[in-house]
Amino acid sequence: MRSHYCGGINESHIDQDVTLCGWVHRRRDHGGVIFLDLRDRDGISQVVVDPDTPESFQLAEKVRSEFVIQITGRVRRRPAGTENDNMPTGQVEVLGKQLTILNAAATPPFPLDEHVDVGEDVRLRYRFVDLRRPEMLNRLRFRSRVTSYIRNFLDSNDFMDVETPILTRATPEGARDYLVPSRTHNGSFFALPQSPQLFKQLLMVSGVDRYYQIAKCFRDEDLRADRQPEFTQIDLEASFIDEEGLMGITESMVRKLFKDVMDIELPEFPRMPYEEAMRRFGSDKPDLRIPLELIDVADLVENVDFKVFAGPAKDPKGRVAALRVPKGSELTRKQIDEYTKYVGIYGAKGLAYIKVNDLAKGAEGLQSPIVKFLGDDVAMAVVERAGAEDGDIVFFGADKRSVVDEALGALRIRIGHDLNMLTAEWAPLWVVDFPMFEETSDGGLTAIHHPFTAPSCSAEELEAQPATALSRAYDMVLNGTELGGGSIRIHDEAMQETVFRVLGIGHEEARSKFGFLLDALKYGCPPHGGLAFGLDRLIMLMTGASSIRDVIAFPKTQSATCLMTQAPGTVDDKQLKELNIRLRKPPVKSEAGEAEAKSDDA
Ligand code: ASP
Repeated sequence: MRSHYCGGINESHIDQDVTLCGWVHRRRDHGGVIFLDLRDRDGISQVVVDPDTPESFQLAEKVRSEFVIQITGRVRRRPAGTENDNMPTGQVEVLGKQLTILNAAATPPFPLDEHVDVGEDVRLRYRFVDLRRPEMLNRLRFRSRVTSYIRNFLDSNDFMDVETPILTRATPEGARDYLVPSRTHNGSFFALPQSPQLFKQLLMVSGVDRYYQIAKCFRDEDLRADRQPEFTQIDLEASFIDEEGLMGITESMVRKLFKDVMDIELPEFPRMPYEEAMRRFGSDKPDLRIPLELIDVADLVENVDFKVFAGPAKDPKGRVAALRVPKGSELTRKQIDEYTKYVGIYGAKGLAYIKVNDLAKGAEGLQSPIVKFLGDDVAMAVVERAGAEDGDIVFFGADKRSVVDEALGALRIRIGHDLNMLTAEWAPLWVVDFPMFEETSDGGLTAIHHPFTAPSCSAEELEAQPATALSRAYDMVLNGTELGGGSIRIHDEAMQETVFRVLGIGHEEARSKFGFLLDALKYGCPPHGGLAFGLDRLIMLMTGASSIRDVIAFPKTQSATCLMTQAPGTVDDKQLKELNIRLRKPPVKSEAGEAEAKSDDA
């Protein structure tokens, strides 16, 4: 139907006849001549229709924004003074001879030809229109380039693309499962995979040796900003390989991807133990572009009368840390109040601070509501430990360790951005030596990565000291975002049973849930390991998009609904009967219009 894309017309086509198809981006009537900006996925061409071609002219008078048309005409140079240097097609225009309206269009829900602030709800409801915007189409195109680059890289490194099931059993990655009722086995449910984890391990047992998949994963998590219930992983696994091998190959993949697709040379990827990351940055995905660090001061304040500090300082599960901000004493009361509110989101009950005005004057030179509670000596010792100089401010966090880590960890990032402290554009690293387990609120243990991750110690040591055992897991972090994570896996049945036992999963339960894995470990399982990258997040970082939804063609809202298809939706009684499912209470319509089962507390 067409000879060229609209965006592909340039001076080399002058005097040629071309046929273009696309959407009318804008129509301008210039007293007797009609200008149409015709748009397709490659760009925009200016088309001129004049009354010398009366039939086409009459049609051109009728077209409106977003009509779909075909136009045949001759390319010519734009008259002097009317060129547009900002457009690749800006030196030429097409003198239309034959215009065909392929389809009319209702007035679009929002204009596409100018920058307007459209609410995201409207954009998601009419996603098919929203995606026409060049910004959105370009992101999809970029995403496609990245996936094809990665496929090429992995193909040429002997990885084999293997699909794994979507209807499966639970694969624990720490979230809730999406369940699908089985019609043929009443009362039984499939789970959608939280990741292909177990299947990729089984593929190693099968001798696939190197596997990859651009895989959809499903996690029913509580509402958290910038998470999607279904998302895409670049999932890979390899046999007869250790941490070095896996980190080496995936690091070179990411490095080459940035270089070849964006011409960005990423710096070295330092390795940092988890313990160091938490201690210095309060986060297991530290943003190393920001030169601010948490400094422990518990030992200095454990004996002061000030309970707010002394309490957590003495508590083995507490932490008291300082965050020195160079030149921070210029922060106003209002800004400090804002930061106090901000750390409140992370559970901090306040934000103590000391402004360092003049160190030569000792405690006199400190300005702070807490110096009188700490005493002059302790205040000076703390300021000195923090390395503060005149003109600095030191913030404090004192609470449960997790609260201090999260609150000061988030504050360092916020202040780093607010005060323009970023020292580099890209700061990658590997975080290694994660603990195997963390404590749950009921005092039990849960796997930090997943229960198939190998520990760095023997089964006996693991069982004796599970809380302090380290794992062979590694995360790749870029600019404070976890790009991917993985581990060397357990390939020994006894070790796998030990980990299950530590997690409180008894033999019977382990057999019933993971019998197939335990069996597979018996039948000649090679040492293996792998990693999965979050594709959506990677694309978001590379494109600088502000939301993960902007790099996914048809994303869900933060409450896990699709505003366009209105999914999830109710189903009719017949379908429910076939599945032998009866709702405990009839569904109610929520505000967004989607059906929700009424919660049943009875
Ligand atoms: N399956 C893991 C995840 O989704 C990644 C891995 O261990 O390879 O986080």
